Amino acid sequence: MADKIHAVKGMNDILPPDSARWEWLEGKVRSLMARYAYRNIRTPIVEPTQLFVRGIGEVTDIVEKEMYSFEDRLNGEALTLRPENTAGVVRAVAEHSMLYEGGKRLYYMGPMFRHERPQRGRYRQFHQIGAEALGFPGAEVDAELILLAQALWHEIGLADVRLELNSLGQPDERRAHRAALIDYLTEHESQLDDEARRRLSSNPLRILDTKNPAMQELVAAAPRLFDFLGAESLAHFKVVTDILDANGVSWTLNPRLVRGLDYYNLTVFEFVTDRLGSQGTICGGGRYDYLIGQIGGKDAPAVGWALGVERVLELLREQGAEVPGPVPDAYAIVPDAAVLPRVMAVLQALRATGVQVQMHAGAAGAQGLGSMKSQFKRADASGARHALVFGPDEMARGEVTVKSLRDGQGAQSAHPLDGVAAWAATLQSPTEFR
Ligand code: ATP
Ligand code: MG
Repeated sequence: MADKIHAVKGMNDILPPDSARWEWLEGKVRSLMARYAYRNIRTPIVEPTQLFVRGIGEVTDIVEKEMYSFEDRLNGEALTLRPENTAGVVRAVAEHSMLYEGGKRLYYMGPMFRHERPQRGRYRQFHQIGAEALGFPGAEVDAELILLAQALWHEIGLADVRLELNSLGQPDERRAHRAALIDYLTEHESQLDDEARRRLSSNPLRILDTKNPAMQELVAAAPRLFDFLGAESLAHFKVVTDILDANGVSWTLNPRLVRGLDYYNLTVFEFVTDRLGSQGTICGGGRYDYLIGQIGGKDAPAVGWALGVERVLELLREQGAEVPGPVPDAYAIVPDAAVLPRVMAVLQALRATGVQVQMHAGAAGAQGLGSMKSQFKRADASGARHALVFGPDEMARGEVTVKSLRDGQGAQSAHPLDGVAAWAATLQSPTEFR
């Protein structure tokens, strides 16, 4: 036998029944986004490398060491598997002049790629769901996005997440803070690690985001950007927090929250949990009013967030939250293969009315479909609520026997094979997967 081929390290198959949890979450998101009037956008997984270099920032973990970049073999173009989707959305919005008639509220779901050390909650192919509102300068839209995320946690039953907020102000405020920060860090240069020393002149703000435990104390005592904010930035922040307060959303100010990406200004936020170790950020976002201009579009304000699907699902699992699994309404039991053509026509008609039917399928050839007993076993294992028995007696009468597999009494009733529409509804019960 040939050598077995394995999936790429850090890239996972999502298999049933687990995939049902993903579909369930995605369904919740679609319905919620519709209620907030956010529309779906789908951009390519591969983008020009320059989009991320300019969009995310050259001196960031992502661009420095996490991107899957390659050269197009045919024309030599530098390409990258998207490590996040904000840059792609912004490119698409600019490319198609989508803000021509006013702001746009958008959302996406899909795989992202980062070359990180795989561990729980950190993968090389992972999935994000994100929401972006482009063309709106007002702080009320920052708040709307936070309320939307909060509503999602409520909808899926996620507990134990807290909201941390900060403001990164505007470029002039950041410049003043940057100078103070460089002075402070230079004074303590001996305590910096290599990465921090490298970033001292290029991107000192990012040093505050360090994960190195040895530098936490130093970073905690550093000058706070929040203290450099002027009246306008503070007013923007207050509009956000007033709305959150009025909606009963609790939050804390985290002056060290700078986020991994370069493009943010004003509001930044993260939803964090203590239950996933150092992969505790399940959702992060903020305002990025300068990004569109940076990638060559017409300047326009924007704000958004992205959540990590794996981390959200992991946290739900950690909490022991029950996520409903898909269960067929009925399992079709067919003892004699000769009647399959007729039976399958009946199943088609049932499914056309919306009933979820799993058909028994057996071995090929002489062994046929297996005994009634073994078929009933399969029916039980499928989790179906009803068995549809297409036995010889039933077929002779032009009927099917419907047996309940759930109530323990084995209640049963006979129904005509012709005109299933009249009784199909009795098989259906409410499920999230309809
Ligand atoms: P972290 O600090 O954990 O590396 P980040 O700041 O790099 O996160 P963002 O770029 O803000 O993360 O991405 C938004 C969300 O996507 C994160 O909050 C997280 O839930 C998820 N995420 C980011 N990187 C990964 C990864 N490698 N594997 C799984 N989920 C991830
Ligand atoms: Mg990261």
